[in-house]
Amino acid sequence: MSYQVLARKYRPQKFSDVIGQDHVTRTLQNAIAQERIAHGYIFSGHRGIGKTTVARILAMALNCRSSAKPPIEPCGICESCTEIRNGNSVDVIEIDAATNRGIDEIRELREAARYRPARDRFKIYILDEAHQITDAAFNALLKTLEEPPSHVVFMMATTQPEDIPQTIRSRCQHFSYRAMKFDAVMGQLRDIVAKESIPADEDALALLAEAGDGSMRDALSILDQAIASTADHLTADSVRSLIGSAPAAALETVMQAVAESSSERILVLVDELIGEGHGPTHFARQLVRFLRNVTVAKIAGKNSPLLQISSDERARVGRIAELFGEEDLARHLQIMLRTHGELGYRQEQRFHLELGLLKMAHAQRLLPIEQWLSEASASRTTGTPPRPTLAPSPVSRSISSPTEARRTEPGVSARSNSVSPFAADSARKSTPKAETSGEPAAFAGGGARATQSGNVVIMGSAAPAIAESQTEPVPQVAERNEVKSEMRVEPRGEANADSLRDAVLNALGNQPMLVSLIESAEWTLHGNSVLAKVAASSTMIEMSFTAEARRIASAAASGQAGRPIKVQVEPGGTAQAVTAPRRALPNGSARSRAEQDPIVQRMKEKFGAEIRTVIDYREKG
Ligand SMILES: [Zn+2]
Repeated sequence: MSYQVLARKYRPQKFSDVIGQDHVTRTLQNAIAQERIAHGYIFSGHRGIGKTTVARILAMALNCRSSAKPPIEPCGICESCTEIRNGNSVDVIEIDAATNRGIDEIRELREAARYRPARDRFKIYILDEAHQITDAAFNALLKTLEEPPSHVVFMMATTQPEDIPQTIRSRCQHFSYRAMKFDAVMGQLRDIVAKESIPADEDALALLAEAGDGSMRDALSILDQAIASTADHLTADSVRSLIGSAPAAALETVMQAVAESSSERILVLVDELIGEGHGPTHFARQLVRFLRNVTVAKIAGKNSPLLQISSDERARVGRIAELFGEEDLARHLQIMLRTHGELGYRQEQRFHLELGLLKMAHAQRLLPIEQWLSEASASRTTGTPPRPTLAPSPVSRSISSPTEARRTEPGVSARSNSVSPFAADSARKSTPKAETSGEPAAFAGGGARATQSGNVVIMGSAAPAIAESQTEPVPQVAERNEVKSEMRVEPRGEANADSLRDAVLNALGNQPMLVSLIESAEWTLHGNSVLAKVAASSTMIEMSFTAEARRIASAAASGQAGRPIKVQVEPGGTAQAVTAPRRALPNGSARSRAEQDPIVQRMKEKFGAEIRTVIDYREKG
């Protein structure tokens, strides 16, 4: 007997043999049991996962002669079942729509469908690759589907159900097949090599399953080749050389070199791979998949079910995930995806692969902008002479608002640089009220902040001396916008809803949409998280309060409070009047303020940047 490929030899002949598609087989069996057979079925999903196989089993069950009505499992031995299995049943017509896609073929089919089945219950058309059928042909088919003769059943298998016209889809029952799980493919491969009495290493099978990429048929056809090419024992190496894959260790080594930004090592590695006969395109594709898996491992953990890979591979992607941050990995994946896409149609593929890998190594050297900014802020804090020792929180100043809200706590005079941070700290700790309420808090010296419209108190240049300021109401709003020359003192560790709100608003100054959204929110502090309830939908919040914004906001709030503070924005609030000009408009043009900003100055000095446009969102708001 001639050799039969494994995919055909081990093709399931019963619903219960079909692996990983229980949701489809169960529903179909129920429909048969209840005699509710539809006239049109669409089976969609990845290639090689059993769509046509299930269509054939359904056809067998519908026409099985073992009982008076269709059984829920075909007998597999009656005339009809055998004929269908061998592909020569008169009443089950399989059409490859990729080659018979035109109007003529479908017209012919439609004509034939009018006649009753020759012998069996149903006349069944299995249309493979149904999405390839032309629109005109679909229209012809639609006529039949609109008023189907009771004996006709259409089954369409497709990888792209969205390409089937809606008019057709709405007249069919649609089943989408799931990609095969790695473990299911492994189990099947193990069974088959055992039945074929072929000794095979577990990691060889794992490689086959991975190479199949969710398709049982693909995995089996590589297994066919592997069996043909190896003498006796199936090893990972033999499979790898067959599919032209670079060893998984090579991927790990390359990514280690990237982590070390070692350009030279990368070039040596590429040279070795090419020398061993690996194609740049294939290697780039492997690396894309590897990086995807590493990224998933970074985000969801290496044991995540999102990874359909062997345990060795899990350990490997886990190790590489340790070397990189999530953002780095996203960037590397993007670079490799682009490189892989370009390799497809470019000459000099090797150079493009090298270039892509070198880009990753360079990207690895890039400092995250947040980190750089926070360093810039830190040096700003220490570098400006009249700065009080009580360090302002670095994040509460944003580029666009360098001089806003020059405020100070009454008890801590701007000019009394002698107040030690420890004193302020102990004062803060002695007033736990500040932690939990929006009430004014007392600070070193016991000065109370008397304010209704805002929690900040402004000290003018002619502000009363410290002793007075402790007892007298401090001039407020009137002076707020005029005062220029004082230092702002923001004791670290000050945490109440208002101060945190201000810090967050300042830090988000360059996101006017978001600022206007949360500015009017109800702000409350609960332990280590500050909650802004806004009068907007959660969709709105999702759109504007991005992960990036969340990070900035939390950093600002934490900086303000001197401890980790989580900023949450939730719907369900009512818009609050924006009472005090929290983000007071300072005097001077926006441009001059921007120019004075130390971060801007450092940017100019470091990158030779120049200020082009200054947008003052405060004025717009
Ligand atoms: Zn039968």
